[in-house]
Amino acid sequence: MTKFRVEIDHNVCQGFGACVELCSNFKLSDETGKSHIEGAKKVSNGEAIELDELTCHKKAAEACPFNAIHIINLETNEKLI
Ligand code: SF4
Repeated sequence: MTKFRVEIDHNVCQGFGACVELCSNFKLSDETGKSHIEGAKKVSNGEAIELDELTCHKKAAEACPFNAIHIINLETNEKLI
């Protein structure tokens, strides 16, 4: 069962790359100028992925100066960040 949902809001992401420096699951796109999460699907305002385990996603989310990355615990519906 998937336990976490990681989302990135591309309306908020400014592309400076703090997340990319801390977590290899995030990559800056030359094309969009935004950070993309490995394996994520497009959603209306950016991207989202559901995962069994977090690796460095939380560290990346905490480092984002614009609060563009959010993590939800799907078992408890708690927004971790
Ligand atoms: S740290 Fe935040 S603003 Fe910077 S690229 Fe990552 S998601 Fe975008």
